[in-house]
Amino acid sequence: MMQSIINWLKNNHMLNYSDLVNTLFKQKCLLCDANIAALQPNIHAVCLACLNDLPWHPKTSCPQCGLSSSGQSCGRCISAPPDFDATHAVFLYNFPIDAMMQRYKYGSMLSLCTFFGALLNEKVSPETVDLIIPMPMHPQRLQERGFNQALEIAKVLSKNNKEKLDYKSAERQKLTPPQASFPLKERVKNIKGAFNVNGNLTGKRIAIVDDVMTTGASLNELAKTLKKAGASHVECWVVARTLPHK
Ligand SMILES: [Zn+2]
Ligand SMILES: [Zn+2]
Repeated sequence: MMQSIINWLKNNHMLNYSDLVNTLFKQKCLLCDANIAALQPNIHAVCLACLNDLPWHPKTSCPQCGLSSSGQSCGRCISAPPDFDATHAVFLYNFPIDAMMQRYKYGSMLSLCTFFGALLNEKVSPETVDLIIPMPMHPQRLQERGFNQALEIAKVLSKNNKEKLDYKSAERQKLTPPQASFPLKERVKNIKGAFNVNGNLTGKRIAIVDDVMTTGASLNELAKTLKKAGASHVECWVVARTLPHK
């Protein structure tokens, strides 16, 4: 229907195609307000200039935990390996990603999950895993917020592999206080026993999806629980990684 209208307008010299695209899909860059025209507006939440300026996660980082390194495993992962086997992150959790994430989490800006999900999708290979598990949220938190941001991002990643999306096997059974306010040791203590995994995951290769990885305490606890249930390989797929201040 739409195509026939476009064709009719074009044939009658009433329209130039790029004008139509601009008119239909014009939107403003979330960061600088510049007009952006895009066929898939949600994927282009920011203009190209702002996109290039975002704090991209460096290529030279520890493949296991995502912290700075020469590209080899870092000293910490060698001396005390985490329970997950690899970490893929798109951004560093610096400005303006932190501000965008806050807006997304607390302002229900669900369209940003399409943007973040599409960028994360370019970093990871869903075909290399059997299951894509979003970081589960406690039912009470879910009720407060109305959506699980990790699930929304995981939906984008599993768009072409819907059977891999698994938001049922892992549950959060313990309501923990917001982790950001606690030092590492407290976080590790708080998160112990927070997850419950149903079923047998023997030999499964699993990707856990989350928005932000800070100390990695939650991801590590979930990875540990998944491995106890039989998972053979667990990766963290996150939108942003916090690097400790030096
Ligand atoms: Zn911009
Ligand atoms: Zn490491």
